Amino acid sequence: MATLQLRALWKLHLVDAAILDIRNKAASLDPGRRIQTEIDRLQADYEEKHAEERKLTAELGDLELLNKSIEEKIKKTNNEIYGGKVVNPREVEDLQKTIESLKKKRQANDDRILELWELVPPAKALAEEALKPVEAKKQELGEFQKSVLQIRAKLEQDFKARNAERPALLEGINVTLLTRYESIRQKHGGIGMTTIDKRGNCTMCGTLIPQKHVVSALEDKAVTCESCHRILYATEGLI
Ligand SMILES: [Zn+2]
Repeated sequence: MATLQLRALWKLHLVDAAILDIRNKAASLDPGRRIQTEIDRLQADYEEKHAEERKLTAELGDLELLNKSIEEKIKKTNNEIYGGKVVNPREVEDLQKTIESLKKKRQANDDRILELWELVPPAKALAEEALKPVEAKKQELGEFQKSVLQIRAKLEQDFKARNAERPALLEGINVTLLTRYESIRQKHGGIGMTTIDKRGNCTMCGTLIPQKHVVSALEDKAVTCESCHRILYATEGLI
């Protein structure tokens, strides 16, 4: 057979293409960004509902405190009226007005407190409901990351195995051809060789290969595709 050099180079190319494929797969592996984006969205929804719950709860607490202090003031004012110190009827009247006004405020607060008692539980339930999908997605992310680790470990294993095949494959190839191949690989995306299909086209770029180049390739001469610049490998039965 006349195609010994190119056949040896082709075997090396197959391993190099497999290594490149492994590299690309490893580089495009999603470590969980897609799920993380969903978590962020669900988390934001939960935060919003939780904030609403906290706002209502805080308002309720404030009003309850406020009413306690109003209660104190009413007591204190009553004591002033009935403590015997205030005797001026005008002053007594003023104090009674103060009490009336305090009671009005307390009533308004009580109305709102009743409303809040209605509002807080459903707000709390909404927040709790919104937290569930966040936790479920986090769990999903954890499992996904485990599977990514497994895929990554497998890719690393394949990468090592393929690299270990290279030295033996290099031995049969002459240095000039090898250097040319490596230089093409560096310039053209890691792929240094291509084949010619049955219609005489380059399988990498589709360009029609001149017949004389097909013949050269079959004679074990290293010729390149004029368009994509890779070394042509011709299998039997092309002519
Ligand atoms: Zn080509």
